[in-house]
Amino acid sequence: MKSLEVEQRQVVVIGAGPSGAIASALLKRNGHDVLVLERQRFPRFSIGESLLSHCLDFVEEAGMLEAVQAAGFQTKHGAAFASGERYTEFDFRDKFTAGKGSTYQVQRAHFDQVLADEAARQGVEVRYEEEIFAADFSAARPRLSVRRLADGHEYQVECGFVLDGSGYGRVLPRLLDLELPSDFPVRRAVFTHIEDRIDHPAFDREKILITTHPEMRDVWFWTIPFSNGRCSLGVVADAKRYQGRDVDLEACLKQFVAEAPSLARVLENAVWDTPVREINGYSANVKALQGPGFALLGNAAEFLDPVFSSGVTIAMRSASMAAGLLHRQLSGEAVDWENEFAIPLKRGVDTFRVYVEGWYDGSFQDVIYYEKASDDIRRMICSILAGYAWDEKNPYVAEPRRRLRVLAELCAQG
Ligand code: FAD
Repeated sequence: MKSLEVEQRQVVVIGAGPSGAIASALLKRNGHDVLVLERQRFPRFSIGESLLSHCLDFVEEAGMLEAVQAAGFQTKHGAAFASGERYTEFDFRDKFTAGKGSTYQVQRAHFDQVLADEAARQGVEVRYEEEIFAADFSAARPRLSVRRLADGHEYQVECGFVLDGSGYGRVLPRLLDLELPSDFPVRRAVFTHIEDRIDHPAFDREKILITTHPEMRDVWFWTIPFSNGRCSLGVVADAKRYQGRDVDLEACLKQFVAEAPSLARVLENAVWDTPVREINGYSANVKALQGPGFALLGNAAEFLDPVFSSGVTIAMRSASMAAGLLHRQLSGEAVDWENEFAIPLKRGVDTFRVYVEGWYDGSFQDVIYYEKASDDIRRMICSILAGYAWDEKNPYVAEPRRRLRVLAELCAQG
């Protein structure tokens, strides 16, 4: 690295998304010096608009709940699923694990800004439009190279620890050669915001609606209503399912919606007023979640799949765990990052993984619509859908693979 001015800090957090905002605020609340470096100017668009109730536990821990409650987001109480004429819903207020029963559906530009502003209000220094482009972990104190985007000025920061909350930027996985391909197939999401004008009597604005394509069970749609009469709408399908379809993204999304009559009915009055976007091959993995001088948070580490809206919850859970451990380390305690961070974090992520796999092979979809499931079983499944995937008291968390298999066999018997 060429010689540049070197700033000295205690902790640097890469990215001011949900993981970075929560981690930095939690560290600051424990009296540590934290610098957040964020490449973009906020507010900025981000996908991931339907939250799970568990993520509000971390918003509360970081002292940001009041600000989020005051922001006017759409309340969310659960998830509804539709497939052909089948419909079922899970209400987060009626679940196995104690914890929050409600959450929000949020425009992420606004939500992320609320969190980052709250972190700043609590004393965290957040620098926007500053990008990390190189990292050197060979010495005892890691050194990051930063570029100020406004004028190209470059400088370095040396610190005691780096938390990487860079999301799809995947800064340290790229710079430290930690990237690992996901073992999920390449899936593509095509999505937009619409003025929804929904007047369908069965539609519940306080739930995300997940609709399965009637002929292709691995293709599904999200409908996430906001509090301002608008909705986020998207389709997710294996990249191969797009072959032969219109290359124009709006036409492509409209065609998919037209193929799902129950969804087309819900959206029949919608005004399509926003450019349609896409994300291709969103799943990602890493070789390690931590190493000397760093830990990876949220999407910078692993991203499974959007189907259960778990991304922000995992991001915040990883932020809370890492901030707690780093506080102990900075207070002079020895911390075993693999056993206290990586392994327990992955346990919950792996629980979600089982149900994501079950969603795409159809077994978990059968379970979701299974009419004979007892109330207790539905409450246990509801806990996972609400984000409580680390609650080992829940048998569907403790033994997800075996439990799902047994239930799927029961469903198959009718
Ligand atoms: P991000 O929110 O991505 O924030 C990372 C920040 O780091 C960004 O602001 C970025 O600008 C900054 N950054 C990147 N590179 C650099 C750099 N070099 N230097 C400085 N800063 C940098 N999750 C849900 O919970 N609910 C959903 O409904 C949902 N739907 C989804 C739908 C799709 C199609 C996809 C692909 C994902 C979805 N997710 C959803 C997942 C969700 O988007 C992410 O899990 C979540 O945003 C992760 O938060 P984060 O803080 O880790 O990263």
